[in-house]
Amino acid sequence: MITSKQAIELEDKYGAHNYHPLPVVLSRGEGVHVWDPEGNKYYDFLSAYSAVNQGHCHPKITKALTDQASTLCLTSRAFYNNILGEYEKYVTEYFGFDKVLPMNTGAEGVETAIKICRKWAYEKKGIAEEEAQIIVLENNFHGRTTTVISFSNDPDARKNFGPYTPGFIKIPYNDLDALKEALDQPNIAGVLAEPIQGEAGVVVPDEGYISKMGEICRENNVLFMADEIQTGIARTGSLLAVCGNCDCQGHCEQQNTYTKPDILILGKALSGGAYPVSAVLADNHIMEVIKPGQHGSTYGGNPLACKVAISALEVVKDENLSQNARKLGEIFRSEMQKLVDEHDLFVKVRGRGLLNAVIINDTSDSDTAWRFCVALKDTGLLAKPTHGNIIRFAPPLVMTEEQLMECVEIIKDTLFSFEN
Ligand code: PLP
Repeated sequence: MITSKQAIELEDKYGAHNYHPLPVVLSRGEGVHVWDPEGNKYYDFLSAYSAVNQGHCHPKITKALTDQASTLCLTSRAFYNNILGEYEKYVTEYFGFDKVLPMNTGAEGVETAIKICRKWAYEKKGIAEEEAQIIVLENNFHGRTTTVISFSNDPDARKNFGPYTPGFIKIPYNDLDALKEALDQPNIAGVLAEPIQGEAGVVVPDEGYISKMGEICRENNVLFMADEIQTGIARTGSLLAVCGNCDCQGHCEQQNTYTKPDILILGKALSGGAYPVSAVLADNHIMEVIKPGQHGSTYGGNPLACKVAISALEVVKDENLSQNARKLGEIFRSEMQKLVDEHDLFVKVRGRGLLNAVIINDTSDSDTAWRFCVALKDTGLLAKPTHGNIIRFAPPLVMTEEQLMECVEIIKDTLFSFEN
């Protein structure tokens, strides 16, 4: 068996250095735990950036994966397969849309949504060809493709990857006046938003911001595209973050907190971390702009992905993961608030459900949060800084209250023994 040291050396020598991982090597996972090759056990407080909401190697998802892997994996869409239709029915009914367009990664899902939105603008709204504009939010994170980084304002994500794709207007997050003003410009096709900005440091907007955004989009005949790749599928204590705070599992249009997006983008936990699966959902009057030959992907909608996604979504309902995330999230934030009150290193805690962040008392270019995460690792809990002085805490949603309290103790002990 390879040692942690050897694994790190191999990655360092043969892999592109496009990530800066915490110095820990993982070789096994089960539920909320992961182990390194030396047998050390850790609580996972990142969940592969919220892909592993259902916990590592969930037996039901693993069984769906292995059963289908030994039956039929990939047909391409040149032919029909016997699972895709079943999945399409399941996922559209689950989230309340007419149609789904299946893809693989999150960034592909976002690209797909942008393409659908532009096509709708030209063919349904009547915007002149090549003129469509999409409103995006400052500090967004929607993936790494050339078009998507074209509207990022993270210098690392953008520098020397130009020329950039035109057609995007950036406005401040959580500012409805800025949105209204931007909508006064001509040729607006849609608005693309994360209901909570994950990579930006778990930035939670004001209550009602997202539902108001949906309403304003509707009034202005522009498409509201919700990127729920990180926030969706129970992570924030409801099936979708656009659901607000309820137990409806997506069937809550009566609730005034719910805004149904015109285009919903899902990824990550749609497969519970077992396989890359993303999806774009919309109703017929929007999705019908896509015709044969105009968009696709060799792997999108393959039977393996479809079986995995059905079982991953079943687990979310069977195990009441939204409710658990909401309950544990409240406990976690109140426990972290005590630490904020007791210790200078923690400045603030924020989040919703089990997508939370703690702000560290240092500048965003300091390495304090990084060193704190290394100390947490040494005490048995894995978390990662996002944007320098912000630490994201996002464990699998299958965590129990008892496990959460054990983790709170680990964070507390690390905090009080941390030498800054
Ligand atoms: N959109 C959001 C909100 C994300 O958080 C991410 C990934 O972190 C993506 C898109 C990109 O997903 P992927 O890495 O699967 O391409």
